Order: sequence, then C-alpha cells, then structure tokens
Amino acid sequence: MRRKLAAGNWKMNGTSAALSELDALARAFPSPSVDILICPPTTLLHRAAETVRNTGITVGGQDCHPAASGAHTGDISADMLVDAGANAVILGHSERREDHGEQNESVRAKARAAMDAGLKAIICVGESLEQREAANTLDIIGGQLSGSIPDQSTGENLIVAYEPIWAIGTGKVPTLDEIGEVHDFIRNRLERRFGEGVGRSVRLLYGGSVKPSNANEIFGVSNVDGALVGGASLKAQDFSGIIDALQ
Ligand code: PGA
Repeated sequence: MRRKLAAGNWKMNGTSAALSELDALARAFPSPSVDILICPPTTLLHRAAETVRNTGITVGGQDCHPAASGAHTGDISADMLVDAGANAVILGHSERREDHGEQNESVRAKARAAMDAGLKAIICVGESLEQREAANTLDIIGGQLSGSIPDQSTGENLIVAYEPIWAIGTGKVPTLDEIGEVHDFIRNRLERRFGEGVGRSVRLLYGGSVKPSNANEIFGVSNVDGALVGGASLKAQDFSGIIDALQ
C-alpha cells in the first residue's frame, strides 16, 4: 500500500512569522495517518525543520543544484538541504521550467543528485493549456517522465507530481476523468520502465488549485496518492482541510 502524502509548496512566500503556521499544523496533527511535507523557502528550511522536529511532519526544498558543491553562486546543493533538515525536494516545477529555462535533462541531473544525497525527489510534470487543447497532453507527459526521471529511482526515493500548468494558482481544475487518465498513464509508464514492483510503489500526487473544497473528490480518483499544494498550504487551517480529506 502506498502511504498517502500531503505536500505543501510555499514557493517564494513566507518569512519568520510563517513558522507559526507550521507550528499550528504540527499541533493539529500530532500523529497523522498520512505523510505531511512542507517545502518552505530555503531561508526558512532549517528553522522549519526545528519547528517540526519529533512531529509527524517533515520538510523539503523547492530545488537543488546537480553538483555536490562548488562555484555556483546562489545555488543550493542536495547535501545542504539534507544538512538543513530536509528529507525531500521538489524538482522540475513548471515555474522553474518557465522562469529558469529548466529542461528535462537538468531536472534528471538534479534528481540524481537529490537521490544520491538521500532525498526523495518530487518530480513535477504537466502540460500547458495549448498542449492540452492540441490533444498533446500524454505525449508531453510521456516525454517529461522519460527525460526527467533518473534510472536509480525506486518506490522510496521517487514521487511524481502531475501539475497541469493551466491549473496552478488559477482556480481551474481538470475534470476527475482527465486527472485519472493522466495518473493511470503515469503509473503505466513507471511500471513499464521500472517493473511492476517499483512502478506500483511510486506515489503520484495531483497539483493545481487543490483546496479543502475539492480535495475529497480529487483524492477519490484512482492512482492519486495525495496532492502537491501551493496557495492552500500557506495557512494551517486550509492545509488541514486537505489533510483531513486525505486521512
Ligand atoms: P496551487 O499551486 O495549489 O497554488 O495551484 C500548486 C503548485 O504549484 O504546486
């Protein structure tokens, strides 16, 4: 059985004051029956890890560099994330693919570095609205999966997040059938590439305008093992509603 996962992506939001939301979340779920992960901005990571120490919540990064160390001004290595208390890292988010021109190959190299450092890599895939309207969704997702996921992936160190770009922060959500179609496709691709055992144990998250009000029905779709949540993860109260729907 795959353990459910509610992952929050705070993106470039939050200063010290935001740690109180994390504290509230930890109090609300003293012994959660699902995994809860918060990925705050890097400046908060160490303090966030301290805030949730000995709770059922873990913290992660939002990106890492493929190299272990060196002359890369402004970048963060996977080992540094581990050192700050992270156990996971989001990679290949569409905002990084768009804002920083990240390609599948660099996402794959980052994922390799993350896995080597002992982190779970949450690899994001998703189509644009134009691609969906041109009926290219599965081709795009297929290319992102084969290009971005490294060979050393296992059911333990890999998580895949399906995030249609047009659903992120827009309040628009695909139909449940559309979500199901893509999640089934991803599961199938993973089974074909890594074998049934590994392919079936990788957790698949849906992301894009998940809220307490739509979480229940989304979590009812087959092969949806949780969510990657942006806006609704910033407030403990909103994120709690999503965790409740998953438990
Ligand atoms: P959203 O973002 O929940 O605000 O739509 C999701 C994400 O980008 O991970």
